[in-house]
Amino acid sequence: MVETQDANALTAYNIQDKDPIVKYREIKKAFGDTEVLKGIDFDLYPGERVAIIGPSGSGKTTMARLLMTLEKPTSGTIEVDGRYLWHKEVKGQLVPADEKHLHEVRGDIGMVFQHFNLFPHMTILKNCTEAPVKALGLSKKEAEERAKEMLDKVGMLEKAKDYPASLSGGQQQRVAIARALVMRPKVMLFDEPTSALDPETVGEVLQVIKDIAKQGDMAMMLITHEMSFAHEVADRICFFDEGIIQEQGPPSQVFTQPKTERLQEFLKRFH
Ligand code: ADP
Repeated sequence: MVETQDANALTAYNIQDKDPIVKYREIKKAFGDTEVLKGIDFDLYPGERVAIIGPSGSGKTTMARLLMTLEKPTSGTIEVDGRYLWHKEVKGQLVPADEKHLHEVRGDIGMVFQHFNLFPHMTILKNCTEAPVKALGLSKKEAEERAKEMLDKVGMLEKAKDYPASLSGGQQQRVAIARALVMRPKVMLFDEPTSALDPETVGEVLQVIKDIAKQGDMAMMLITHEMSFAHEVADRICFFDEGIIQEQGPPSQVFTQPKTERLQEFLKRFH
């Protein structure tokens, strides 16, 4: 029995009984001569919320981009729900995956970036129905029903007929979150979702993410510089530095009893 007063830590403990939904194994990534990721082993469990923290340039975004297949690892494997990202298993051998396989695995992952990139010429509703119609083959009616449900969840249903330019940055980011949720991904990845926003709209976006984290059982990977948010929402914190995971654990441990000097130094910046 794990003795802890941290409810989040207890959740993390319980879900370790399941198989990971995302598995990174010995992942290395170099750009030219620069090795940005130096051997990442990382598991994300169904329903688990992991916050990834660390200094700029430590490789956090690269780690996320690999999962979205926006970058290819130099070596190592990534599995999502039992399927390899870049490979296919044929008769016990790993062979390079085709585009169809990549497309299918990618469908399990939803991503929200720093820059929301909504289509400016489409209404908010159309922004959220485009992918489910084109990529999932839903009818327009089904896609609109899903989109309205998700827009309601992020408090943006009233703006369904408006265009992105008439919304604040925070509102646009809430729409981008709804757009990702419409695809019903198994894993949601947030890469610094508030760092491009005006300070006054940061809170509303963090609140929406907290609400989603409370409601669903979707696994979430959150790259963030918002330490109190990470503390509140995450089951586990991973501290990245110089291309490796230096330290990880429940927020109560990582934030109050950091083991490595590097993490101690990093956390001082937020006091
Ligand atoms: P973080 O998200 O922690 O700030 P990144 O993953 O964005 O870190 O970047 C890690 C390092 O990799 C940085 O030094 C960055 O300049 C470098 N890098 C990222 N993407 C590329 C790329 N496409 N080409 C060359 N270098 C890159």
